[in-house]
Amino acid sequence: MNIKSFYFFWFSILMSLTLQAQSTEKSQNQPVHDTTFVNLTEYSSAFILDLRYATENNFLKAKVYDCASCYLRFKTVKKLIEAQDLLKEKGYKIKLFDCYRPLDVQKKMWQIVPNPIYVADPAKGSIHNRGGAVDITLVDVNGQELDMGTEFDYFGSEASHDYLKLKPEVLKNREMLRNVMVQVGFKMFQSEWWHYNLPVEPGFSVANFKWDCKD
Ligand SMILES: [Zn+2]
Repeated sequence: MNIKSFYFFWFSILMSLTLQAQSTEKSQNQPVHDTTFVNLTEYSSAFILDLRYATENNFLKAKVYDCASCYLRFKTVKKLIEAQDLLKEKGYKIKLFDCYRPLDVQKKMWQIVPNPIYVADPAKGSIHNRGGAVDITLVDVNGQELDMGTEFDYFGSEASHDYLKLKPEVLKNREMLRNVMVQVGFKMFQSEWWHYNLPVEPGFSVANFKWDCKD
């Protein structure tokens, strides 16, 4: 090897190491895509989690999630944080009852309540299965839930936005939640005051993964 090729040899090695280092850094700093599933609590600690399907306190009377984590598409998380910021100004917080829901859990729900007014048919898949929906309520500064007229997952007409034979305070609470969620881009679901979802977009496909409970 002459002196020229010797230098070229070491120059090539140095360049390839530099390029390798750059590509590693790039992958670490890569922006999260809107359709990536993420854990809400890694992006904000402003929410209260009461994930009912990780307990037996739900209409299934069964604990169907191994642990209480709120996974959603990144876009859903961003919109939810926008809503939380607006509600914070008014002195309220969002409490979450359900987030992403694996398709297998949707099938169990459908077996118990095969009524599309309340539970999405697993053949089509729910927006919860796509990571674009949340079931929520509001709490005040003391952590007390606001009166929304019915419990979460109450399968009756009183849970509907159309049902107006409720106390003025209840109607006002539902309206406050609805206005903020709609303002940031969520859609309401007529028969359930607690359900809000983003419009389904390409990439929001039905999923059935179970999240990791190690953390
Ligand atoms: Zn829902």
